[in-house]
Amino acid sequence: MSAECVFCKIINRELDADIVYDDEKTVAFKDINPAAPVHILVVPRKHIPTLLDMEKDDEGLIGHLHSVANEIAKAFKIDKKGYRIVLNCGADAGQIVFHLHLHLLGGRPLLQTIAKGRGV
Ligand code: AMP
Ligand code: ZN
Repeated sequence: MSAECVFCKIINRELDADIVYDDEKTVAFKDINPAAPVHILVVPRKHIPTLLDMEKDDEGLIGHLHSVANEIAKAFKIDKKGYRIVLNCGADAGQIVFHLHLHLLGGRPLLQTIAKGRGV
């Protein structure tokens, strides 16, 4: 937990968000500035700033985030047509919130470019 972190505040219910999934390791909520009809952030409860900060012990957690993304994709009915998972790591990737998260994007055809959350 980091006192200044916006996603930690959402996880701790100090800040409102449209939470769509919640378990002992993970919270997922709608992106406040969606880049696609479905744009959900899948976030570990553990405060890990970037992918580079993950430890060997976090491998299971990172896998779990992907399983959760699959379940949310099914719940939002974007599983059959397809969806994109984006993980921005660091400044050049455009990471703006330094609490590791997956973007789950779908609900329309996404451009076939190297994409980050925004420019899909
Ligand atoms: P990035 O760090 O670039 O991978 O993306 C961070 C994402 O968090 C952006 O797409 C923002 O729109 C989103 N975001 C920032 N603050 C909030 C918030 N309070 N609730 C929901 N989404 C947020
Ligand atoms: Zn955090």
